[in-house]
Amino acid sequence: MKVLKFGGTSVGSASSIKNVKEIILNQPGSKLLVLSAMSGVTNQLVELSEMVRHSYVTGYSGKIDEIRKKHYDLVMDLIPQDSVNHNVISDLESILQELEVTCRLPWSRNIEARILTTGESLLTLIFSAYLKYEDVENTLLDAKTFMHINNLENPDTLYIGELLNDQLRLSSQHDLLITQGFVRLNEKREVSTLKRGGSDYTATILGAAIRASEIQIWTDINGLHNNDPRFVENTKPVAHLSFEEAAELAYFGAKILHPQTISPVIGKNIPVYLKNTFTPEATGTRISAISEKKGLKAISAKDEITAIKIKSNRMLMAHGFLKKIFEIFDKYETAIDMITTSEIAISLTIDDNSNLDQILTELDNYGEISVDTQHSIICVVGEGLIEDRGTSRLFEILQDVPVRMISYGGSNNNISLLVDTRNKIEVLQKLNEKLFMNQLINQV
Ligand code: ASP
Ligand code: MG
Repeated sequence: MKVLKFGGTSVGSASSIKNVKEIILNQPGSKLLVLSAMSGVTNQLVELSEMVRHSYVTGYSGKIDEIRKKHYDLVMDLIPQDSVNHNVISDLESILQELEVTCRLPWSRNIEARILTTGESLLTLIFSAYLKYEDVENTLLDAKTFMHINNLENPDTLYIGELLNDQLRLSSQHDLLITQGFVRLNEKREVSTLKRGGSDYTATILGAAIRASEIQIWTDINGLHNNDPRFVENTKPVAHLSFEEAAELAYFGAKILHPQTISPVIGKNIPVYLKNTFTPEATGTRISAISEKKGLKAISAKDEITAIKIKSNRMLMAHGFLKKIFEIFDKYETAIDMITTSEIAISLTIDDNSNLDQILTELDNYGEISVDTQHSIICVVGEGLIEDRGTSRLFEILQDVPVRMISYGGSNNNISLLVDTRNKIEVLQKLNEKLFMNQLINQV
C-alpha cells in the first residue's frame, strides 16, 4: 500500500480537488490518503481559537460562517446533485455544530486543538463523498481512532499500526482509504495536534505503521529546491536526497516539509516522494536511503533563532561545567540546535523562547550572559560536504556579512551559519551564487 498526502493549495478549490482525484486514479494498487485542511482554513481556525481564548464571543459565529460558506461552496461545485449533496451538507453541519459547542467551552490547549483540527474533518468528509459520487469506492477512517501518540518526537508506529488494523477489520473496502492529517490523541487520550504543517508527519507515521511501499507528499512546488525560492532566483528542485540530508533540511527550515517528517521512515527504509499536484509529470524529489551523489545539495534557513552566550571567568572546559549548562536547557525541555565553544565561552542557539526568562535566570549563576534574538540558521547540506574542496567558497561569505556562529564538522553532511535575520536574504543569495551558480562544487 502507498500513502499519498495532499494539503494546502492542492486541495484549495474544486478544480484542484478534481485534479487530485485524477492523480489518485492514475496510480495502480491500494492507497491510504492523508488530507490536511483546505488552504487558509487552519489559519481561520487559529483566529477562531484566539477569539475563544480572549472571550470575544460576538466574533465566533461570523468566523464559523466564513468556514461554513467555503465548504458549502466546495460541496456545491463538486457534488451538484441535490439529492446527494443534501446528506453531505447535513454531515458537514454536525461537524460545524460541534465546533460551535466547543467554542463555548473555556479555552485550553485541548479546546484549541479541537478547534484547529476541524479543517481536516471537514475536508476528508467532502473528499470521500465526492469520490463516492464519482463512483470511486473508498473508506473514510477517523484518525482519532489510531493516531494515538504520547511522545511527539517518537511515535509508537507499531501500536498505531495495530490500532489501524483494528479499524480496517471493521470496514469492507481496503483499496482506497482516506483519513485526516494533523490530528492525534495525546497521552491523556485528548485531541491534540502534530503542530502546524503536521499532516506530512501523519503521512510518514502511517507509512511506517503499515510498512507502506512508498509515501508521496503532494504540494504546489516541484519538490525540494536547492535554495529558498521565495528569496533566491533560479533555484532548482533536487532530484534525490538521502534521508539524513532531507531530515537536516526539513529541521533547518525547508518549508516544504514539516521538521519531523523523515524520522519515522528512516529505519524502515520507505522512500518519500515530494511531488507537485499542478505538474504531476515533473519528477519532484525522491528521498531514500541511497545516496546517489556526494557534495552540496541544498541550502535552507530557519528563522526566530535566539543565540545565548555564556562567558565564564572560571575554566569553561573544567569537568562538569557543560553538563550543568545543558541540564538547565533539559529542565525546561528546550532543544539546543547549534553550539560553538571557546576556552572561556560557549554560544548556543534555541528556537523556542517560551522558557527563555527562567533559563537565563539560572544561567546567570555560571557567568556573563548575552542574548541575541531574531537570528537565522542557514543550513548547507550535502553528503560528504565537508570533504569537498569547493565547499571552502562558502567561507567567502565572511567577507560580506557578519556571521555570529559557524558549526562545521558536527556531521560530514552539514555546515550551519548563524546570521542576523536582517542579513538572511543576502546570505542565501550570495551562497547561491558562490556555491551553485559557479558550478564549482558538485551540482544536483
Ligand atoms: N492543516 C494543518 C496546518 O495548516 C496541518 C497541515 O497543513 O499539515 O498546519
Ligand atoms: Mg505543509
